[in-house]
Amino acid sequence: MKTKILLEEEEMPRQWYNILADLPGPLDPPLHPATRKPVTPDDLHVIFPMELIRQEMSPMRNIPIPEEVAEVLRLWRPSPLYRAFRLEQALKTPAKIYFKYEGVSPPGSHKPNTAVAQAYYNMKEGIERLATETGAGQWGSALAFATCHFDLDCTIYMVRASYTQKPYRKIMMQAWGAECFPSPSTRTNAGKAILEKHPDTSGSLGIAISEAVEDAATHKNTNYSLGSVLNHVCLHQTVIGLEAKEQLAKEEVYPDVIIGSVGGGSNFAGISFPFAGEKLKGKQKDVDLVAVEPSACPTLTKGVYAYDYGDVAGLTPLLKMYTLGHDFIPPAIHAGGLRYHGASPLISRLVHDGVMRAVSYHQNEVFEAAQLFARTEGIIVAPESAHAVKGAIDEALKCRESGEEKVILFNNSGHGDFDLSAYESFFQGKLEDYEYPADLIRESLAHLPAGA
Ligand SMILES: *Cc1c(COP(=O)(O)O)cnc(C)c1O
Repeated sequence: MKTKILLEEEEMPRQWYNILADLPGPLDPPLHPATRKPVTPDDLHVIFPMELIRQEMSPMRNIPIPEEVAEVLRLWRPSPLYRAFRLEQALKTPAKIYFKYEGVSPPGSHKPNTAVAQAYYNMKEGIERLATETGAGQWGSALAFATCHFDLDCTIYMVRASYTQKPYRKIMMQAWGAECFPSPSTRTNAGKAILEKHPDTSGSLGIAISEAVEDAATHKNTNYSLGSVLNHVCLHQTVIGLEAKEQLAKEEVYPDVIIGSVGGGSNFAGISFPFAGEKLKGKQKDVDLVAVEPSACPTLTKGVYAYDYGDVAGLTPLLKMYTLGHDFIPPAIHAGGLRYHGASPLISRLVHDGVMRAVSYHQNEVFEAAQLFARTEGIIVAPESAHAVKGAIDEALKCRESGEEKVILFNNSGHGDFDLSAYESFFQGKLEDYEYPADLIRESLAHLPAGA
């Protein structure tokens, strides 16, 4: 009975798994924000490299991981799978709890899995600089880390709330050679427009995306890079689930429940898609796929499944997804990476089709789960990852009631070493459980783009 189930470097997957190949029907296509017609590769080529556009729409089930990308991934991959014996004991549950730990990457989360691939393809196509947004700073630091391996410049628009609350991430970005600005900024028209209307805004991912897209679209040598939501991002993250599948096979088990936190959906896609594919093909026993989100930004549980913009300014293509409305600005909860109004079109579709389900929790119960996890398994998890911990604990407690010995797998998407101020607020009893912001959401949903 092992605590850590490890793979050799040679056992790292050589291909990503593309779930588009196994969906029962095609995804509704992204629409051009002006014409409302399906976007063409040429439209996207203004801000993305061709290879990522091909991957975004590819019908191929398996897509090879280039050796140059694998070389960088091997700095920390394959990542360990843990059996959470001590947590099981504390919960007195008959369930077996496993977690994949993505906090071992240099930036400390799953995000470099796609950042490295994106930086590589942009470099290959002659791009010199990447622009992006970041919420809590995990994506910005991941892209800074990745661009530095492929000699690209990197400009990061960081949501102002996190820029002030979490200064260490921006220093990491500097260490890896990137420049970082608080968003909204005065560097872009989108940023200036928001600042005029709301000078004291704490910012949001949607606003920061508008700034980064505008930066990329207005500079020829610059592309845009997105850390979640899109199909190619989910694709690159499947290395997590593919490894986990091999690791669980060494334990001779197959999961009954798979849990992940959802901001844009990429880490949950990463751990779950290789298993969701088996479920779609009817090849394996049914597996319960559970997305966990914050009650303050309840995209999958309270949003609508509709076409909406990915950003506040309406510069991005319209995506068919669960959304709270593109101008919804969520309360400033500490899980900054989960403060997004939309969700991956792939995850949205699978939730809509009933292949996956979603639950939501308030911050205090999430931090209580994180505290128990720290005191049993030792790892101080990121506030985002703590949502998955909470989901796993609840499933394990259900097993205690029912006596079922389920195999629970969750994705521990990152460590919380730079989120200790959030833990401090929790210990001091200062964390606010925001009510479901029904009025704000009703208002923003009234602004969904018409005619899509
Ligand atoms: C960004 C982030 C998330 C949420 O983003 P997804 O795209 O939904 O995965 C979750 N956990 C950590 C540690 C993150 O950095």
